[in-house]
Amino acid sequence: MLDSILESLQVISLPTRTNFRSVTSREVAIFEGPAGWAESSPFLEYDAKECVPWLVSAIEAATQTPPPMQRKLIPVNATLPAVNGYERIEEILSWYPGCQSVKIKVGGELSDDLKRISDVRSIAPQMKIRIDVNGSWSVDQALRAIEDIYQTGAIEYVEQPCETLEQLRQLHEKLNGRVLIAGDEILRKSASPMTVDLRDVVDIVMLKVAPLGGISRSIQLAKKHGVPVVVSSALESAIGITYGLKLAATLEKLPYACGLATGNLLSADVAHLPVIDGCIEIAPMELDHGVIAKNRVSPEQLVFWKERIRNTWVSGAQDWVLQEGWIW
Ligand SMILES: [Mg+2]
Repeated sequence: MLDSILESLQVISLPTRTNFRSVTSREVAIFEGPAGWAESSPFLEYDAKECVPWLVSAIEAATQTPPPMQRKLIPVNATLPAVNGYERIEEILSWYPGCQSVKIKVGGELSDDLKRISDVRSIAPQMKIRIDVNGSWSVDQALRAIEDIYQTGAIEYVEQPCETLEQLRQLHEKLNGRVLIAGDEILRKSASPMTVDLRDVVDIVMLKVAPLGGISRSIQLAKKHGVPVVVSSALESAIGITYGLKLAATLEKLPYACGLATGNLLSADVAHLPVIDGCIEIAPMELDHGVIAKNRVSPEQLVFWKERIRNTWVSGAQDWVLQEGWIW
């Protein structure tokens, strides 16, 4: 199987429209298997162990037929990186026609965060606001910031306000349900996502199909933790996003708009996934081979990725795939 992956592997570097997660281009590795196109794009700083679920998710996409779909139209949210400036924010929000919710990145200077949020409220007063802190607040900072933000209006939920389980538990107790907490890194960066005890810690979990090891694993995790989920992306190309859309399509309940419109943050993508009336429709994918040809990485970088995938394979992906019984 490893040989088949490496044989068809292509790595492309997609330029971003904004500085997101401090990256200005997104390197993605794609390959095609018997069940379709697959993407494995762990961020460049991740070590082999951390890359394992990403590769497993891609192998599942390449070899398995997803479970039956409950819906074809997936509601999505806007994603606003930590940018400031009224006009810039207005421009970015215009990339998401019809979206009912916006996820705003916060966790830097609180005054900048508050300004960003109040600008969004005046540009798009109808939109629900969720904030993503990426774990950067202490419990006290979170309480103060959430209080200040709440003064300006309601929030749908706060995503990963603090880093650790214990901090989140304390915050959860203090907030007492007034503001909902969503867990992201606490699940996907956990050494054992299946057994981590999230009771009285979070009210919602983020499901990111690649870092959690694929669709079937994400469904198991949702069942195990028994709280509402939000399906979200890891800033993948349209191939990885489509896999996230398929996860969203298979879930019985989908109470929140999904963070799967992040393709809008790229200035070129391998396929077109338009947001129409706040939704992305799942349709057969037509790859833009021109974009792929134009954005290929250097031969040296391709060698780096092949080596990375080999290391990921022997660091756990192979055992996982064997256990699942997937063949190619
Ligand atoms: Mg997050």
